Amino acid sequence: MVSISIRHLTKRFGGSAVLTDVNLEIAQGELFFLLGPSGCGKTTLLRHIAGFYAPDGGGIYFDDEDVTDLPAHRRGTGMMFQSYALWPHLTVAQNVAFGLEERKRPRPEIERRVDETLAIVKLDGLGSRRIQQLSGGQQQRVALARALVIRPRCLLLDEPLSNLDAKLRLEMRSEIRRICKEFGLTAIYVTHDRDEALSMADRMAIMEGGRLVQVGSPEEIYKSPATRMVAEFIGEANLIDGRVIRESSREGYYDVEVPFGVLRARPNNDDWRPVQGQPVVLSVRPEALTFGDVRDSPNRFPGHIISTTYLGATVQYELRVSEVTVMKVCEMNPWDIRLPSSSEPVRAMCSTWDLVMIRK
Ligand code: ATP
Repeated sequence: MVSISIRHLTKRFGGSAVLTDVNLEIAQGELFFLLGPSGCGKTTLLRHIAGFYAPDGGGIYFDDEDVTDLPAHRRGTGMMFQSYALWPHLTVAQNVAFGLEERKRPRPEIERRVDETLAIVKLDGLGSRRIQQLSGGQQQRVALARALVIRPRCLLLDEPLSNLDAKLRLEMRSEIRRICKEFGLTAIYVTHDRDEALSMADRMAIMEGGRLVQVGSPEEIYKSPATRMVAEFIGEANLIDGRVIRESSREGYYDVEVPFGVLRARPNNDDWRPVQGQPVVLSVRPEALTFGDVRDSPNRFPGHIISTTYLGATVQYELRVSEVTVMKVCEMNPWDIRLPSSSEPVRAMCSTWDLVMIRK
């Protein structure tokens, strides 16, 4: 397995820049996700790594080898796509064997490796079935086996689960992660499904308009989004415009004026020291807000509930906090459900750590 290094990668299609100065280091054995809105360049970046596109500038390295000009079939990558691209008239084993036959491996080796790989994806004994006789989930496993059988230097997956129903998708998420970890695969996985990325990734990159906006672990990106777009893309977020008043009495935290008072927040980045008067956006996740009124908490404010949605495991509230601010609040395991009321105010609060300051 290789580490992958992408350096200053640039690509234009026609007149428009599709990738702009992309720099990325992916470690050996890492399960890395590319995530972002439609058209942000995820697939284009993956196809450069696979060797289907040549960049206009910059380079791609597998370990220390410069593969930028190496044709796709000599890069040793295994690919798995959304459309499984299996041959329907061939058997499961014939589909899986394809890459080995192309490499002219001896017949006994092909048979042994196909059997081994079918066992890895839990399709043992199904080698002689036709593709049409398999369920969608099984077909996806064949596509994975076909990518793995060549013992790729890295595995590239482009929305591999988006044709599956919700239950199979969940099953295949843990299956793909299990296989990647068991065999120490370096894998790059493209998706626009944030739950897929959060639940499977070691690390991920969020892309926007052909650039990498943030790279980090799922937790870093969820808890400390680099931009407003990242905050909203990776989960639900309450976003509040504000202005820095001063560094607070608690080191590393700042007092920020917002339309309904003054709140205390932490910068999304340890290296950033906001200055007085700086316009910022505050982000707080709905599940980080609670109803209550702890006297020495700096982040508590009154509001009125304007809607209540019961979802079993959670209740979601909309809370009007000011003329211009409505906040979402999510309570787990609800037992005392609050109803909308314009006459009875409630108080909500969040910790200073959960209120994150983003540069505007
Ligand atoms: P999605 O999530 O919708 O698959 P994506 O993030 O994978 O989107 P890309 O498929 O990489 O996005 O496309 C990025 C941009 O490049 C889009 O504006 C797309 O229209 C354009 N594009 C992609 N491939 C080509 C091509 N072969 N020729 C011209 N433009 C292209």
